[in-house]
Amino acid sequence: MKFLFDLDGTITSAETLPIIASHFGCQEQIAELTRRTVQGNVPFVESFIRRVNILGNYSVEETVRVLEKVPLYPEVKRFIDEHKEDCIVVTGNLTCWCAGLFKKIGCQCYGSEADCENDKVVKLKTVLRKEQIVDRYKALGETVVFIGDGNNDLEAMRHSNFSIAVGLTHNPAQSLLSICDYVIFDETALYRQLSQLSGEIGKNKSVVISCAGIGSRLGLGLTKALVQINGNSLISLQLKLFKDVEDVRIVIGFQANDIIEEVRKYRGDIIFCYNHRYFETKTGASFFLGARHANNEIIEWDGDLLVHPDDVRKLLNVSGEYICYSDKTSEETIFVRTDSEGRVVSFSRDCGDYEWTGPACMFKRNLVYNSNNVFNMFEPLCPMRGINVRAYDIDTYNDYLRVSEITKQWKF
Ligand SMILES: [Mg+2]
Repeated sequence: MKFLFDLDGTITSAETLPIIASHFGCQEQIAELTRRTVQGNVPFVESFIRRVNILGNYSVEETVRVLEKVPLYPEVKRFIDEHKEDCIVVTGNLTCWCAGLFKKIGCQCYGSEADCENDKVVKLKTVLRKEQIVDRYKALGETVVFIGDGNNDLEAMRHSNFSIAVGLTHNPAQSLLSICDYVIFDETALYRQLSQLSGEIGKNKSVVISCAGIGSRLGLGLTKALVQINGNSLISLQLKLFKDVEDVRIVIGFQANDIIEEVRKYRGDIIFCYNHRYFETKTGASFFLGARHANNEIIEWDGDLLVHPDDVRKLLNVSGEYICYSDKTSEETIFVRTDSEGRVVSFSRDCGDYEWTGPACMFKRNLVYNSNNVFNMFEPLCPMRGINVRAYDIDTYNDYLRVSEITKQWKF
């Protein structure tokens, strides 16, 4: 697996061209152009040519020295140091300006090329198209992960096998969010996801909260994660329950931006996993997408499910796979059938001893893609340990009223 990184704002904690500009005192011209380029409002190549025209008049050697001092994100740098052979930097920036910076990063770096004479840039020769580097590694049979934040990373992301949009320096370009697999706003979370992708799996449990659906049966015109329960959004209550879990992954689709905004009020280190096909798929697909690069033990949690805080604490300490159920409270439901030892033997639409509510825990080795429901993914694994919990899901408006009432006394 190869990890291809954008440079500006992804590895460096600031955009490099504005730093050069401010060093030479021409920041205003550059700043506006950079801002509009990152947002995708000026085509990258045009903008880059215009910026090189301005900055090329200044000393190349001095530029190299300025860029050498640009700070790097320590956790990103740590990952690169630990995987030097598999990390590659791709930047539109000029290799003649970045020579020192590339050396400091310490892995293979690709940039745009220019002719220099008398310590000045005289001619731009090539502008790097990042997707070509992606294609080159894929042609060698590599699986490519692309990590970037700007609109000029869009094609490279599209060509790569997996893509991570990052919002470390500024929010990632909106265009990336309609195609990326992950969006991450925190460098420790990014380090964690990169390590997981490279096969270094953490020992702790992961929690995957599925919030991609449209919540149509509820009729509030909101995805369920954002529904207010006694003055708190449902997702904020979930986050309180999982405050001690390191690897919390939230699957998003419908109203993704609103969920991201709400979640980031409470926690920065969440790994957001996209289910772009949320309209055509069910919870199984969301769970798969959230779990495929997680730790080995994965707790599946529906975004509309509330479980009594004491039971949550208990569940987080259980090791191994399990399926949770609760006493029957809903009319329309999936039932579980249990054996004399309390193990879940099957699911049924007609009748059973308890109501299937989730959560459930699965080893990653048992994860198989399924566009149907989560319980369909657990069916082949039965019989499985069953755990009775006080769990309530919010499917309909009546559920919503009932759960609001029940949870009033809960201490989150
Ligand atoms: Mg960038």
